[in-house]
Amino acid sequence: MKKIVLPLKQHVGGPCQPVIRIGDSVQRGQLIAVPHGLGANIHASYSGTITEVTDTCIVMDADSRQDFTLYVPIPASETKLEMIAAAGVVGAGGAGFPTAVKLKTEIPTGVFIANAAECEPLLCHNIKQVEEHADQLVRGIKYCMEITKAPKAYIAIKPKHKKAVIALIKAVLHEPDIDIYRLPDMYPAGDERVIVREVMGIELEPGQLPGTVGACIDNVETIKHVAEAIEDRKPAIDKDLTVSGRVQRKESVFVNVPIGTTAGELIERAGGYIKPHGEIVVGGPQTGRAGTEDSLVAKNCGAFLVAMPFPQEKRDVGILICECGGSEERLTHVAEYMGARVVAREMCKRMVEVNGRYRCGLPGVCPGQAEKVIALKRAGAQVLVVGTCSE
Ligand code: SF4
Repeated sequence: MKKIVLPLKQHVGGPCQPVIRIGDSVQRGQLIAVPHGLGANIHASYSGTITEVTDTCIVMDADSRQDFTLYVPIPASETKLEMIAAAGVVGAGGAGFPTAVKLKTEIPTGVFIANAAECEPLLCHNIKQVEEHADQLVRGIKYCMEITKAPKAYIAIKPKHKKAVIALIKAVLHEPDIDIYRLPDMYPAGDERVIVREVMGIELEPGQLPGTVGACIDNVETIKHVAEAIEDRKPAIDKDLTVSGRVQRKESVFVNVPIGTTAGELIERAGGYIKPHGEIVVGGPQTGRAGTEDSLVAKNCGAFLVAMPFPQEKRDVGILICECGGSEERLTHVAEYMGARVVAREMCKRMVEVNGRYRCGLPGVCPGQAEKVIALKRAGAQVLVVGTCSE
């Protein structure tokens, strides 16, 4: 019998509270946990029997027969915003912010921006969605414009994705209030502050939210889930992902994968490993974290990547940290896996402290780091592990 683990926190906010008990039989799509405070509903992505409920997850034995085309629909509702909240939609691009909370802020003189940047290397499931379902995306954007009262919308995408751009041009042909915005082909073009700067010409301060200048930005897969919640009464139980790296079928895109599916299962479906291989990364190569074959598909998980084996390095290491690239935690982990000792840490010189957290002052306008490299060498670093986007 297949065991499915459904995490109670797949979003910004606290863990959800279960509304089922051990022994309950649940259907795919059935509500199983609700937020207390900021958060989003969680629904069963498989049909089965609940076997365990903890503070962090709900565990179930999946029924031997599953029909993933079926689900228990969310209740019909008076408003579109209520349907998005009921469906438990959260930011699918990685952030996991509850979408209904974000869309609640009205921007009657602002703009709604659909983020199709997908700028982490190797990831390609967002672009595949745009290529194949541009009309659904446009319908989702119109729902978001209606809810936020945004009079204008842009779809931000890099022109190198020619097939997707052509699909969008056709889809917005009769939509005078929706335009395509061509982003520069650089990392981190998908960062919200970069998108606001590019599309609106406004430079947000580090830590300043897009809503303060009348912008609402959602990833294209989030908008797909908005459309599904409103049109199909579908809860957020499935996720699109890319599996890539040292797997037999490079850049395998998996669409509508039930939440709770494991990385190991998807790697197998991508043809299995290319040997030798290193760690499994959950998320993109820039901002992802180390995982295992047991790592789970969650609402905010976009990729499982299989890396090269780490080179072995015995010299002392200095790490160079970036907000949009390698974090201190990730770079330290990489150095440790190489067998090296971290003797010095520096941040990109653009990083500034805002409310106790270091943020990038100007994402995507990345400076040279000579003075930081000299500082790391002076502190005893013989080699560097660099997380900045520019190097
Ligand atoms: S300016 Fe520095 S912190 Fe900001 S994105 Fe570029 S390298 Fe990263």
